[in-house]
Order: sequence, then C-alpha cells, then structure tokens
Amino acid sequence: MSAPIYGRVALIGLGLIASSMAHAMRRANLAGEITGHARSAETRAVAREIGLVDQVCETAAEAADGADLVVLCVPVGAMGAVAEEIAPVLAPGATVSDVGSVKKAVIEAVAPHIPEGVHFVPAHPLAGTEHSGPRAGFAELFDNRWCLIVPATPDTDEAATARLSRLWEGMGAHVDVMDAEHHDLVLAVTSHTPHLIAYTMVGVADDLRRVTDSEVIKYSAAGFRDFTRIAASDPTMWRDVFLTNKEATLEILGRFTEELFALQRAIRTGDGDHLHDYFTRTRAIRRGIIEAGQDTAAPDFGRGAARSTKTERQG
Ligand code: NAP
Repeated sequence: MSAPIYGRVALIGLGLIASSMAHAMRRANLAGEITGHARSAETRAVAREIGLVDQVCETAAEAADGADLVVLCVPVGAMGAVAEEIAPVLAPGATVSDVGSVKKAVIEAVAPHIPEGVHFVPAHPLAGTEHSGPRAGFAELFDNRWCLIVPATPDTDEAATARLSRLWEGMGAHVDVMDAEHHDLVLAVTSHTPHLIAYTMVGVADDLRRVTDSEVIKYSAAGFRDFTRIAASDPTMWRDVFLTNKEATLEILGRFTEELFALQRAIRTGDGDHLHDYFTRTRAIRRGIIEAGQDTAAPDFGRGAARSTKTERQG
C-alpha cells in the first residue's frame, strides 16, 4: 500500500460526506491519522461508538490543531463561523478545504479567516444521498463520481491543489478544476434547480386533497417517487444552498419558467410537434448521461442493487 497523502486530516462536521470521506481515506490509506469534530454531543458519541475516525474532539479547534488538511463538512451557512474558530490553530503550510455545495459564498465567508501561509482549496464532491449523519457514510460514495476543485483565488498554491486532487482521486473520484462562479452556475442547472422543482412537486401533491395520501404513495412509481426521494434531502443543507446560490438559481429558474410556459401553451393548443421535438431532445441528454457512466440504463434506475440506491443524487 502506498504512503498516506496527508499526515493528519481533520474533518469538521461528521455527517454523510465526512463519514464517507473517513471510510474512503481508510480504504486506500490516504491519511496517517484522522481527527473529527461534530457540533452535538450526540453525533460525537455515535462517531466514537462506530470508530469513525481515530480521535473525536470536543472542539473544532482541537481537531484542527496540528492537521495538514482540515476539511469543513458542515452546512454552507456554518462554514464562516467554523473557519473563524479554527483559524488560530492553523499552521503555515496546512491546507483548508471544504465540501460545500455552493462555492462563491463559501469562499467569501471562509477566505477572510485563513491565516497567511495556509492554503485554501475549496472542493465539492458531486455525490450524495438523501441520508444524513455519521452512520450514513460509506467508502464507495465517491467512486466514479466527479469532485470539482475550486481554488479560492487564481494564485492559489498549485502544489496544494494537486495534493488535494490526489486525495480525491484516491477516494475514487474524477477531478476537475473550475472557478467558483462557473461552478455555481453549473450546479444551479444540474442540482439546485432540480431539487427546488422536486420540493415543489411533492408540495403540490401534498396540497391536492382530491388525490388521497394513500394514492400518492401507492401509485408513486410513475415518476413521483424520484421527486419524493430528492425532496427528502436535509432541510438545513438545502435551505443554505438556495440562500447562498441565489443569483444562479434564480437565473435558471427564470429560464425554466419560460420553457414551462411554452410547453403549457403547446398542450393547450394541441401542438404535438412541439412536444415531440422537445421530448426527443431531452431523451438524447439522458442517453449522454448513461454513456458518460453517470447513471445506469436499467429500467428501475438500478434500484435493485442496494449500493446504487445510495449514489443517485448529489448536492
Ligand atoms: P449532514 O449529514 O447533515 O452533516 C452535517 C454535519 O455538520 C453534522 O456533523 C452537523 O453536526 C454539523 N453541523 C450542522 N450545523 C452546524 C453548525 N451550525 N455548526 C457546526 N457544525 C454544524 O450533512 P452532509 O450531507 O454531510 O453535508 C455536509 C456538507 O456537504 C454541506 O455543506 C453540503 O452542502 C455538502 N454536500 C452535501 C451533499 C449531499 O448530497 N448530502 C453532496 C455534496 C456536498 P451535528 O450532527 O452535531 O448536528
């Protein structure tokens, strides 16, 4: 087995993403030692009980002290406060990263607290499930998924960026580097707006009293089930995503609404050609995702395989 990439890695926040990182780092011996901290005593107790990391610390600063890499794995809205707390113990040459689903807002909140000589290299793994907490993680979460590395500034240390990229590759991911603004727009299209639409659709079904609850559940296989799974995602995480990726999400929602009106008009006027052309175009996009290895063509979207049910969505 090859030598670890970092001597000590600190995970701040011990939820789905951090626990998956701990398992994936151990699988490939990527860290000499892993420390961790979670805000609640309950989560810290679970982490200790399952032996998630080598040392569970009472404070974020204690976990970050002496670490070569500190990864902030808390909701986007909490990143700034955590960075402020750990700043005094960060040693020159260390790297701070995060896994937040939004990048511009995280950089704005965290960068002012990063001391001179410490590298700040944000990242975002495009992998997740609707489950949360320290028990939700598993080593394969990032296998064959993308991790976007978003250097905080154009002159971020190249060696620090390359080292973090090697860590993510070691955890099974493919790595791409892009700037924060572009990241936030791409994610608004591929993840954030689709989540908002799923939340809305589930809300609409809930409001429609003429369709009973039991009918919604019983007949949900016809598309609605996918919306309910997405809409079960963590409310705190997604509240923060929309509050912090406001501009890009509103831009994409505006375009979505225009297209929806056009389809609504086509249905009203019986314009079958418009509907058929539109659905032909969207079908090709689905084919492209399967060809890129990012989903399965199985009729049940691969749900038969227990593992694949866990890797269907991203934040
Ligand atoms: P999670 O399972 O809900 O875990 C969140 C962790 O953050 C918990 O340990 C929680 O501590 C801690 N935390 C929550 N609020 C905090 C606060 N105000 N101050 C300090 N710690 C706090 O979340 P997750 O799914 O791992 O998400 C973590 C990050 O990854 C988020 O930024 C999210 O945007 C990003 N992300 C998520 C996904 C996904 O699909 N889930 C995918 C990619 C990226 P307690 O347990 O003690 O409350």
